[in-house]
Amino acid sequence: MSHSTIAFQPPLTIAPAQVLRGYGLLTQVGGAIARLGQRPLVIGGSQTLVTLQPQLQPVLERESLQPRWVSYSPDCSETTLATLVQAAEQHHADVVIGMGGGKALDTAKLVAYQQQLPVVTIPTSAATCAAWTALSNVYSEQGAFQYDVALTQCPDLLILDYDLVQTAPRRTLVAGIGDAIAKWYEASVSSGHSEQSLIIAAVQQARVLRDLLFQKAAIALQEPGGQVWQEVVDATVLLAGVIGGLGGAQCRTVAAHAVHNGLTHLLASHSTLHGEKVAYGILVQLRLEEIVQGNRLAATARQQLLKFYSEIGLPQSLDDLGLAAVSIADLQQAATIACADHSDIHRLPFTVEPAQLMAAMVSTTAREVRGEERGERSEQLTPHPLPLTPYSPHEVTL
Ligand SMILES: [Zn+2]
Repeated sequence: MSHSTIAFQPPLTIAPAQVLRGYGLLTQVGGAIARLGQRPLVIGGSQTLVTLQPQLQPVLERESLQPRWVSYSPDCSETTLATLVQAAEQHHADVVIGMGGGKALDTAKLVAYQQQLPVVTIPTSAATCAAWTALSNVYSEQGAFQYDVALTQCPDLLILDYDLVQTAPRRTLVAGIGDAIAKWYEASVSSGHSEQSLIIAAVQQARVLRDLLFQKAAIALQEPGGQVWQEVVDATVLLAGVIGGLGGAQCRTVAAHAVHNGLTHLLASHSTLHGEKVAYGILVQLRLEEIVQGNRLAATARQQLLKFYSEIGLPQSLDDLGLAAVSIADLQQAATIACADHSDIHRLPFTVEPAQLMAAMVSTTAREVRGEERGERSEQLTPHPLPLTPYSPHEVTL
C-alpha cells in the first residue's frame, strides 16, 4: 500500500468552537466573550449599533472589557476592511465581535482573520448562515459582489439569541429559507457524484434541510417565537452552516448564487435580500436545465418550488424582485457577469451562454410544457432531485 499523495489539504472548517443558544442570551454572554479577549472591536451596522450597544455595553463592562464600537457601512468592501483593520490596531483589539446580518458578520470575520484574532458572531436575523461559516463575501462600495474569501476556521463563539432574531423583519427569515434550500439544488449538482465521505454527508444533509423547511417554513412564519419557528431558525442559521462546513470549498454553489452575484451589479436589486435573490436564482437554474437540457424533472421541481414560494412569499420573478422595469442592457450585464469565466454557473453539466441565461431569467414562472406536447418520450428523463421525495440513502453499490 502506498501513500504517495501525502500532502496537506485545506483545514476542515466544520463548526464554530462554541455555539450558545437561548432567549435573552445577550445579557449573559459577558463571561464567554471575556474568555476570548479583553478589548473587543465590535462591528455592526449603524442601526444595529444604535439598538444593541446600550444592551451589550453594560454586559461587557461587568467583565471589565473595553469595547470599541464601529460600523461596517457602507458595505463589506476592501475600503471598509482597511479602515476597520486600522481601527482594530489602534484599539489594540484582542477579539472581534460581529453583530448584525450577513454583511456585518462577514466583515467581522474577515477583520479577525486578517488580524489573527478570535471572533464572536451575534446574528440579529436568520437571513443567512454567515454566523457559522468560514467564508466571507467581499462587495464593492456600491454593493456589487466581488469575490469570496475562504477563512481558516469557523468563528470561536456563535451567540444565537432568539429574542434578537425575533425582532428582525419576517422577510429576513423568508430570505434565510431561500438561501438554505439553495444548498440542495446547488450541492446536488456540484457534488452529487462525489465519493468523499464528508461531501456525501453534506449533500444528504442539504436534502434533509430542504425537506425540513418544506414542512415547517409556513407554520414557523405564522408563529414567530414558537417552537416550530425556533426549529426553522436553527435550520437556516445553524444546519445550513453545518452543510457549508462539511462540504467545504468543494461543495460549491452553482447557478443560483451566480445569478445572485450578477444581480448585485444592478443598483435596482439592492432593495432585496441575499436569500431572496438566491431563491429566484434556484428557479433560474432549474429553468436553464429545462431550456438547455430539456430536463422535465427540473420543470416539475420548479413548479413545486413556485408553489412553496407563493406560500411563504419568496420572489418568483424579476417582477417580484422589483426589477420589472429592468432594461435589456442591464439584464445582459447581470447575465454576462453571472457567466464570467470563473463563475460557479459553469459547475452545471452543460455550457451556459448569457443569452440562454437571460432567456431563463425572464421565464422563471413559465408554465410547464409537458414532454408529450413536445413529442418527447419518457425514456429521455434524466435523474433530477425532486422536492418532497421520501428520504433515501445515497446510492451505494455493494
Ligand atoms: Zn447564500
